[in-house]
Amino acid sequence: MTAKPRTDVFSPEKRSAVMRAVKSTDTKPEIAVRKALHALGYRYRLNVKTLPGKPDLVFPKHRAVIFVHGCFWHGHSCKRGKRVPKTNTAYWTEKIARNKARDKKNTAALKKLGWRVITVWECELKKLNPANIPIKR
Ligand SMILES: [Zn+2]
Repeated sequence: MTAKPRTDVFSPEKRSAVMRAVKSTDTKPEIAVRKALHALGYRYRLNVKTLPGKPDLVFPKHRAVIFVHGCFWHGHSCKRGKRVPKTNTAYWTEKIARNKARDKKNTAALKKLGWRVITVWECELKKLNPANIPIKR
């Protein structure tokens, strides 16, 4: 007797769209951090496509980049990052493993180019004091 596999109500593609939508509602703290950094006198560029991994914030003067990572998507070691969807488990496990591998590769490539890479996790955003982000060398 074979158990019927559990199926998601959404296809993987649709599920991706749903999860992205979930993430986009969580970007307010990210904007707050950006505004605070600007108020602190930092000047940055957003989503620089010419750099490995398209960093969220780039500080050319300080040769530093910031990635704001969603805990689920990038497999953070926090409660949210460890949560695995109960459906399509293999799909998600594999996808997140790929994201993590890509992050590692991008970080290495950026460091090689002389950039300092700062990762800010979604779960830390609200409590984060922007003045404590080590942007200056
Ligand atoms: Zn986290």
